[in-house]
This record gives sequence, structure tokens and C-alpha cells, in this order.
Amino acid sequence: MTAPAERALWLRGELDRLARAYYTGPAPEVPDADYDALVRELAQLEDEHPELASDQSPTQRVGAAPDAAFSPVEHLEPLLSLDNAFSDDEVRAWVDRLARAGVPGPDLAYDVEPKIDGLALALTYEGGRLVRAGTRGDGRVGEDVTANVRTVASVPAVLPAPPGRLEVRGEVYLAKADFAAMNAQQLAAGERTFANPRNAAAGSLRQKDPAITAGRPLSFLAYQIVGAGPTGSATSQSEVLATLQAWGFTVAASAQRVVGIDAMLRACAWFEEHRHDLPYDVDGVVIKVDDVAVHERVGATSRAPRWAIARKFPPEERTTRLRAIEVSIGRTGRATPYAVLEPVSVAGSTVSMATLHNADQVRLKDVRPGDLVIVRKAGDVIPEVVAAVSEPGRARAAPWEFPASCPECGSALVRREEERDHYCTNPSCPARQLQQMSHFASRTAMDIEGLGEQRVGQLLGLGIVADVADLFALRPDDLATLEGFGEVSAVALVEAIDAARHRPLHRLLVALGIRHVGPVAARILAQRFGTFDRLAAAPTEELEGLAGIGPVVAAAVRQFVEDPENRRLLERLAQAGVEMHEGEIVATPAVLAGRSVVVTGTVPGYAREEAEAAIVERGGTAAGAVSRRTYCVVVGDAPGAAKLRRARDLGIPVIPAAQFAELLATGTWTPGPDALET
Ligand code: NAD
Repeated sequence: MTAPAERALWLRGELDRLARAYYTGPAPEVPDADYDALVRELAQLEDEHPELASDQSPTQRVGAAPDAAFSPVEHLEPLLSLDNAFSDDEVRAWVDRLARAGVPGPDLAYDVEPKIDGLALALTYEGGRLVRAGTRGDGRVGEDVTANVRTVASVPAVLPAPPGRLEVRGEVYLAKADFAAMNAQQLAAGERTFANPRNAAAGSLRQKDPAITAGRPLSFLAYQIVGAGPTGSATSQSEVLATLQAWGFTVAASAQRVVGIDAMLRACAWFEEHRHDLPYDVDGVVIKVDDVAVHERVGATSRAPRWAIARKFPPEERTTRLRAIEVSIGRTGRATPYAVLEPVSVAGSTVSMATLHNADQVRLKDVRPGDLVIVRKAGDVIPEVVAAVSEPGRARAAPWEFPASCPECGSALVRREEERDHYCTNPSCPARQLQQMSHFASRTAMDIEGLGEQRVGQLLGLGIVADVADLFALRPDDLATLEGFGEVSAVALVEAIDAARHRPLHRLLVALGIRHVGPVAARILAQRFGTFDRLAAAPTEELEGLAGIGPVVAAAVRQFVEDPENRRLLERLAQAGVEMHEGEIVATPAVLAGRSVVVTGTVPGYAREEAEAAIVERGGTAAGAVSRRTYCVVVGDAPGAAKLRRARDLGIPVIPAAQFAELLATGTWTPGPDALET
């Protein structure tokens, strides 16, 4: 056998095995991106070596044969898959193919819809009544899941009587919130949790006992009508969606009808940017030619329609090799295990480290150095290791043990009784000091320009400072001769440190790293007590009684101020001239008193917590959700689509980030050309 033939044979076997696990097993073995990469490799081989092509190849077929445990259902028309495009160029190539088939692209209208990561379902209605529901199966014959589908609330049992027989197609899925709730319930009942919403939706739908399906919060989103004449006057995909909605189905509210390739690619980019704002998991968008007549004209291959294409987003899960598990020490001394990985591109960036959270997580996931692991990076969330991929026949390392001693200072690492985390027991552990001092100097804290982690490391490493109080004794001469410094930068750093002496109390409270005290709590405390001494003297009950400060924060504050080490540090800071009062900040006019402001997306110049703190400082509340009581919604970069939609629905004013400063200064804003439409 030639090398390509051998490779093709192997790829087919491997793809069959993975597809079986994915379609009929309890969980997929690898992320979709890995499976897709193998499909593409096989397709390319078959392209280059036509003698290897076969209509039995995984590149040619749809889904998997229906499971014999269910009665077969034949689809009115084949329920196919979709061709994929992994880049804008591949989308353009699809547009070119359509043009060659006589459907010219420049002014063509497209429908761009979210590609929900669930499973396809075909619903047959006769005389307006639901008579059958089938999974996709192999595209021709699916599995009869009618009894189960009858338990899904968003599937209408009766339609407003369109005549004859018709099929409604769509996706069964679990909304992200429902999936989280369902897994929490599984955990509480001591049952196995589900790997992902798609898998859980498939498992929930393909049950022998409809009562089990009924207990699962499945949803259905409709996107196609098949059958002679039932679409009535719908001549376009956008009208099909409107018809489905009128019949009582849920359709994707975010679907966009656009004209021309540029607008279509912009719509794809919009979805990619907002993928995490949608209530369900999506792995891309589906682009469809809007004109239904074109669908009939161009038809389909054996696998996929020619009038639609799936533009896949960069995958958020990939597999890579776990080189080692190490532990990092944070500013509270917490020891967090993390994975050192062979670099891999996930969601558009290269990932070489990923968190493993804590000892329990490592044990539960049973990941070991040398394993092939699945890495996930979704949105702004830090990358994490999801699971190990099983590699039959490969010898694995022994299960990983949490180190007994700190990798930085050698002191014991102990697990606190009431927590899942381990801590370094040495209060002066260098790693901890580095993190503490960097935090002290950071922008949300004392905001010392020029004192980043690297410089802190240098100063600590050389023994020039031992703690944050020592910073205030530095003179330019101490720094000027150090590597990376000159006369000018030495003076600048000393001046920046000097400026930090006059920071308001709330910044100092953040800088001290008191547990559970972030910028918002710090503002509340600073405004209430005005000086550190008064805060330190306040009884726990008084702290607890403050709006926004619960018993947890109150206890943490008491514990901090009662610690003799902390008291000594504060005395030294006071001696060094660090002011410990809120000063003029107390006088900030409460221009937002009693008003609830929602910030969505990033306001340039403000970290999320800073924007919230600025609202609170002016008497307002920084709310997480839009309601009828919302005063206004401030829209930063990458805002949440759902929040904007809700603001629009409720008629709440939406103002651009550029006017945030005006809002803070005056409590209102000037409607202008910049103001967004609501
Ligand atoms: P697909 O999921 O890429 O695309 C087709 C499907 O998209 C349709 O059948 C439909 O169910 C769905 N869809 C969602 N929203 C839609 C919308 N608005 N309009 C039309 N269709 C919409 O292809 P596929 O044939 O279902 O399966 C291949 C997928 O399964 C790939 O993503 C592949 O990675 C994955 N898979 C993974 C493994 C694994 O081991 N991880 C194994 C097999 C298959």
C-alpha cells in the first residue's frame, strides 16, 4: 500500500471511531477542532489522490447511522450537513463557486445566523399537528424521538394550521444557563456531570424514557421549512424565519439579513465578537443565500447544500501535550497548580500555560504530566485544562501529587481546613512579596507609575526593599546605578512613589490586599470612615451594617486590622508620610445618587471595577443587568448584545463610553451625534 493510501485508511478508521463516540457515545473523545483537522487532512488526500476517494469516506457522508434502539424516520428531504469555511477567504471562495453556478455575489442578499452547537431535529407536521420528530441520523434516515420531543416546551404541538404535510427543521440545544443549572443539579445528586451543552442536549434527547427528557431544560430553535408549498408566500430565508416565528417557534433574534459580501463578512465578525453574549454555545455562523429560489436552483452535494456555508470561529478547545504541572504562589500565599503546555493556538492566541485551579481539580480531571490534554480558552476567561484525552496503550506518569513545599521558598504548603486551596506558610515568601508589592503599586491600588512586576522583582531580589513601607525611603541615588535605571528614571520613580503618599484612603485599602476588599468595597469603607484609624476602630457590627459590605468582608477587615504584623506595617507607612484619609474624594458630588447605571463592555481608561467604583463613588449603583429602573447604559468596547437589546426593548438611554466622564461629572449627558440610537 502507498503511504497516502495507508494514511487515508488510518484517517478513516480514526474518524469512524471518533464519530461513533461523538454521535452515539457518552462523550466526544477529542475537541471538534481536532476532528475537523483530520477531516480536512483526509479531504486533501482524496483531492490529491482521486483513486483514494470513496462515497463511504467520512468526508462524503453525514452524521452516523441511526441507533437501532430507536425506530427509523425517513426525512422528507435529506437532512444534510454544512460545508465549512475557516477563514474569510474560504467564504469568498464559496461566493465564487456560487457565481460560477450562475448566482452572482456582489448584490446578493445573505442571511447570517448563529450556528448553535446542538443537534439537528426534523419535526413533521400534518394538518398543523406534530406527528413525528426525528434526529438527523445519516441524513436520510434518523431516529424517532417523537415522544421525547413532545416534552420540549418550545416545540409547538399544533401550528396555526398550515395545510398538508411539512417539516420544520432546527436545532435542539441547552442554553448555557440551563446547562449550568443542570450540571449543578447532577452534582448535588451525586451524578456524573455533562462534558458540554451539545453533548448534554444529545444525551437528553436520545433517551428511551421520555420522562427523563421531560426533566431536562431542552430548547428548540427553528430555521428551515421543508415541504411543498407550506412556506406560503415566503420567498426568502428571512421570511422563512418570520413565518416560523409567527407559527410560534423561537428563531434566532440575532439573525441578520445583509446585502453584499462586505456586509456579510462584517456580520460574521460581529457574531464572532459577540459569541459569548449569546445565551447558547455557538461554534460559528451559518451564511445562507436569502433567496429561496436559489436554494432550489443550486441544490446540494451528497453532504451539504450549496446555498449555505458554516463559517467556523477559531476553536476554543484544542488538544496539546501537558509538559509539566507547576505551582504558582499569589500575593495571599495561595498556591495554584498550573499546566505547562506545548504551545497551541486556541481562540486565536497561543496558549502555553493554563490554570488547573486547585488540587481537587487536578485529581478529578486526572491529568498527569505527559498526557494529551484538552485546553479551553473562552472569551476573557483564563485558559484552563478541561480533561486528559485517553491514549490506549500509552504508559502514563503516576498521578500528580500536590508538592509539600513551596517552589519559591521551600516552606510547607498546607491546605486550609475549610478551603480547597493550599497556601505557602511563609509570610515573607519571595513570590508572595513580589505579588504583594506589584499589587500595591498597580493602577487600581497606589498607582505608582514605573513600578511594574519586573522592577519590583529587581528591588526585592537585590534586597533594596523588603516590604512596601521601604519603598517610601528610596532615594534617586539608591536606584540610579541599577541595571535598567538612569538618573532620569530613578528620579521619576522616586517622584511617582512620593505622589503615592497622597493617594486617597480607598486606594490604600485596595493596595493593602485585604481579603475580599476590592475597589468597590474599599470606596464604601473609605467614604464611611474617612480615615484608616476610624475604620480600624469600627466594630464588626458597624461594618456589617453598611450597604454593600456583608459579614465576609467585615470579618476580613477586622482580621486584617487586628493582625499585629499589619499594624506594624501601617505604623511604618504612616511614619513614611502615607496619608490615610479619603481627603477630597469624600467631597465628590453624589450626582448619580439613587441611580442605577449599567456598564457593558470596556470603557477606555477604566478597568471594569474602576468604572463601577466611579459610579458608586458618586452615589449610584453599578448594576449588572438592565431593568426598568436602569438610569442609563454606558456602552464600551465589545458590549453585551443582550444588554443592548434589553435596553432598546425597555427604552433605556444608551450612551457611548466617550460620555462616561461627562456622566460622572454632571450626572447626565448631552445627547449629540455621538449618542447611540436606543
Ligand atoms: P456541522 O455541525 O459543522 O454543521 C451542520 C449542522 O449545523 C446542521 O446539521 C445543524 O444541525 C447545525 N446548525 C446550527 N445552527 C444552524 C442554522 N442556523 N442553520 C442551519 N444549520 C444549523 O456539521 P455536522 O455534520 O453536524 O457535524 C460535524 C460537526 O460535528 C463538526 O463540528 C465536528 O467537529 C463535530 N464532530 C466532532 C467529533 C469529535 O470527536 N469531537 C466527531 C464527529 C463530529
